Amino acid sequence: MTFLTHPRAFSAAEFKAYVSTLKWAGGWRPQFVTLHNTGAPNLAQWARLGAGREGGAKRVRNLNAYYKGLGWHSGPHLFVAPDFIWLACDLEQDGVHASCFNKISIGVEMVGDFSTEAFDSGDGAKVRYNAVAAIAALCGVLKLDPATLRFHRECKRDHHDCPGARVDKPDFIARLKTALAA
Ligand SMILES: [Zn+2]
Repeated sequence: MTFLTHPRAFSAAEFKAYVSTLKWAGGWRPQFVTLHNTGAPNLAQWARLGAGREGGAKRVRNLNAYYKGLGWHSGPHLFVAPDFIWLACDLEQDGVHASCFNKISIGVEMVGDFSTEAFDSGDGAKVRYNAVAAIAALCGVLKLDPATLRFHRECKRDHHDCPGARVDKPDFIARLKTALAA
């Protein structure tokens, strides 16, 4: 089962504890994390329809159903919202999120459209905080250098400017290093 029937909501601390229980014993061992933003829903849409445990679970189930409907065997692993880190698909199996990197990376979707929405204040800053915490936890347990992080837009053949230009890669990696060192 790759798509979770019941998506799970974690705080940053809960997520760190959860990933420490994973083994990646099935043969798939991710080599880095690929970072995305959802674009649609953006933060404003998520605040109306995706906030809280019930709203978020419903949204993530809908996203999973959409990807399943496309015939995909899995989707992005995580959706990072202002309030929770949502586990959408099994982290111990490969996902579908960036054609260049699916077989070798974990897909993390940040809720928002960071070509237009702020990433350094309000809900955007909360998403940034949770995304840094989630990816730092994954780097810790998988023993990955934060500098291995890739953005979806680095997969040129997908022609997808993702995450938006307000997400600065050197800044994000510096935050990961700080979080990992803490
Ligand atoms: Zn993307």
